[in-house]
Amino acid sequence: MPWCETCAIFREPEALEEGKCPGCQADLAIKAKTPWHFKVLLVGTVIYLLYRLGQGIDWLVRHVHF
Ligand SMILES: [Zn+2]
Repeated sequence: MPWCETCAIFREPEALEEGKCPGCQADLAIKAKTPWHFKVLLVGTVIYLLYRLGQGIDWLVRHVHF
């Protein structure tokens, strides 16, 4: 949820007027996009998937005799 420092209040994303605070017209759209924890989650998911992929290849090598 976007935080307006000028108004010292959290604004609902739906309440923003074209990405701006309805109280003071401060631009809050940038803060609302891709928060840092989303990026961390994304990186973590990629690492996890690569780890599982490695496990899958390992399983194939052990169980499938070409
Ligand atoms: Zn404001």
